[in-house]
Amino acid sequence: MRYNAPKGTTDILPDTARKWQYLESKAANMFKNYGYEPIITPIFEHTEVFTRSIGISTDIVQKEMYTFKDKAGRSLTLRPEGTAPVIRAYVNNNMQQLPQPVKLYYMGPMFRYERPQAGRYRQFWQIGVEAIGSDDPALDAESILLMINYFKSLGLKGLTLYINSMGCDKDRPKYMELLREYAEANRKRLCKDCQKRIDLNPLRLFDCKDESCQLVMKDAPKLLNYLEVDCRKHFNMVKRYLEMQKIEYIVKPELVRGLDYYTKTTFEVISPFLGAQNAIGGGGRYDKLVEEFGGSPTPGIGFAIGTERLAIAVEKEGAFDSIEDRMDVFIAVADQSAKPNAIDILYALREAGISADIDYMGRSLKAQLKYANRRGFKYTVFIGPEELEKKRVAVRNMETGEQIEINIDELIKVMRDIVMERF
Ligand code: AMP
Repeated sequence: MRYNAPKGTTDILPDTARKWQYLESKAANMFKNYGYEPIITPIFEHTEVFTRSIGISTDIVQKEMYTFKDKAGRSLTLRPEGTAPVIRAYVNNNMQQLPQPVKLYYMGPMFRYERPQAGRYRQFWQIGVEAIGSDDPALDAESILLMINYFKSLGLKGLTLYINSMGCDKDRPKYMELLREYAEANRKRLCKDCQKRIDLNPLRLFDCKDESCQLVMKDAPKLLNYLEVDCRKHFNMVKRYLEMQKIEYIVKPELVRGLDYYTKTTFEVISPFLGAQNAIGGGGRYDKLVEEFGGSPTPGIGFAIGTERLAIAVEKEGAFDSIEDRMDVFIAVADQSAKPNAIDILYALREAGISADIDYMGRSLKAQLKYANRRGFKYTVFIGPEELEKKRVAVRNMETGEQIEINIDELIKVMRDIVMERF
């Protein structure tokens, strides 16, 4: 019986996996540079971790969660995003006792039951950061700058940064009334889901992809225009810090970002290379979330980048070309009698930090060379009874065809020099 990978999932084959490793290691380096530390949380959580934080009225909670009962009857959910688990872990592990802000990053798979299409999957990977414990607008700017500078370090160009402020407790009640009234007056033009959202949370009307709903929401009152003085000042400072670092942005008052926990700053980066699913990463502030998980009031901000979409954008810019993924040395064995000695040399090369491999398929010498070429080895070392007897081996540069003979006792040292100097 043959099986396909489940709908909305893909196998990440070596060529892509290598590129992802490159993206992840570049991210880890840059995050460290900005003072962020790694955290790994479980792939599944108690369902409530997501329903309470992301919000009952969101698409994620309403339609997209992989929720199941375990054998003891607990309701568990495969994580649809990384922020709620990290905040749950922050509270659970008393990280409020640590020097603040606590700056963390994560990388790993997320799960949403969405309609698959290019750039949208049911299992997808995210690279994300969270900075918890401060509401300094300089930290909002840092989050945005970290994402933008990471993209720049990967050679991405033509990106658009959208920012918005979603205000706080002081701004919301009055605004929500206005929005509800507006939506109510336009109820007939809204889709069935949105009609329900009017009562649940009218902010979610901004998420709807339905054309008619989008048309209605274009003229809806925007929270940004109803900010009280504190939130307005906060947003102005964020913008100022971005301007100081010469970061261009567009203020987009409709940017509410699909999750209930956002307060104040939200942001999103769009790539021109991604077609319909063009958001490459996004994030925002969540000043109520720690309380939601039983901690004392603690502000926070973070973002998540979609690894698949990032890889597509980086590929289009040709920025993966510099990844060095070729093996150093292939050991071609001229006669099976020489194999034990050849294996000895193989391990000695590996021990010396030189990537090396050998034939395990009983190929002829000619077929071994063909294989070495296909796999892109940089050098081939020929070992046979004659070479062993004379204690001299031939090393071929597979690119130029140039061949040199060296003393077998010096092979490791010479190969190390050659490989390190990329001669
Ligand atoms: P979100 O967690 O919804 O704020 O999404 C953050 C980023 O994750 C987005 O900008 C996308 O790049 C990526 N993303 C979200 N959902 C999916 C999905 N279903 N498939 C692939 N990437 C996704």
